Amino acid sequence: MKTTLATALALATIVTACPEHDAAERPAARQGRQANLLADYLPYVEYPQAQTANVTKYVVAARKLAGDDLYAYFARDCIYQPRYVKLDDAAFQSALAPATEVFKNFYFVGQAAWSSSAYDTGDGLVIYDTLASSAEIESIVLPGLAKFGFTGHDIKYVLVSHEHFDHYGGARYLQQNFGAAVVASADCWKALEALSPTANPAPPVRDAKAITVTKDATEVKLGNVTTTIYLTPGHTNGTMSYLLPVTDLLTGDRLLAGMYGGSGASRTAWSLGVQAVSLERFANIARKNKASVLLSSHHSRDRSMYNIEEVALRTCDKQGHKCNLDNPWNVGVDTYYRWLMMESLCIRAQAARGGFILSQ
Ligand SMILES: [Zn+2]
Ligand SMILES: [Zn+2]
Repeated sequence: MKTTLATALALATIVTACPEHDAAERPAARQGRQANLLADYLPYVEYPQAQTANVTKYVVAARKLAGDDLYAYFARDCIYQPRYVKLDDAAFQSALAPATEVFKNFYFVGQAAWSSSAYDTGDGLVIYDTLASSAEIESIVLPGLAKFGFTGHDIKYVLVSHEHFDHYGGARYLQQNFGAAVVASADCWKALEALSPTANPAPPVRDAKAITVTKDATEVKLGNVTTTIYLTPGHTNGTMSYLLPVTDLLTGDRLLAGMYGGSGASRTAWSLGVQAVSLERFANIARKNKASVLLSSHHSRDRSMYNIEEVALRTCDKQGHKCNLDNPWNVGVDTYYRWLMMESLCIRAQAARGGFILSQ
């Protein structure tokens, strides 16, 4: 039998391990010893209180709404995340992502799990979320900005989507070092101000420049970019979401993006109910305004980790009419609406898994 190099390599692979799982780096139990074997696995999360009929109702509805185009989002948010919580955490906690200009003058400068984006408005930068710490600002955000010719001193506004450390962690640093104005909702500020004085990371403070958002459709205008802020509580009390104009890098199309501030399931019946309603409300706002671009405060939710790779391979003709790939964030008005409604159904499913009956 003639053995080609390809089949030889394939055979070699079969008798060792799949290449992505280097056996030498796996726990001993996984290499064949039975003692404590199951302890080495990350758990499949059980929900003993689940209302099975409602879980079925919402997951089936979410699956149908997702169709083919949103299947990957459905699978991750409705099944993988709630069932494989620790695996999901492990996969996204610590990977780096390249700083990338994803729309004209709009840059991703965060890491794989936690988003931080910068918008060059022509009159300074607006930053959307700040990662988890000053250290992440120094080692990830500032080098990311430098790649595109900016420094921290260009930052004018820092929008904090909500009061979790992976979003506000670097905000204090940006205030202290560059005098940036921190923008957060009234409930977000309230939660940050209730933290212990020794909280780590230290939260931003409501100084003279800080802005408190108290009502829907509050605008932050800088240069030629207006970000419109909506109050979307549920993930936390103080969660905000945004509509912002973006321009396709290759086609020049002017588009409207929605950036949802917090779609990870909250924990109580009350907050899950509020969260489901906020997602539905923002879905209607986004559709009315013709938002077609799907962005999130977590790259694990808007699939930017994958999209960054796709846009690097994307080319269009000179007129920008024909491209070899669509812009992966520009999912379309109907699809973005369906994504938000599907996220709401996943939240309702999660409530049902926890045995909660939602009042609305
Ligand atoms: Zn959060
Ligand atoms: Zn988060």
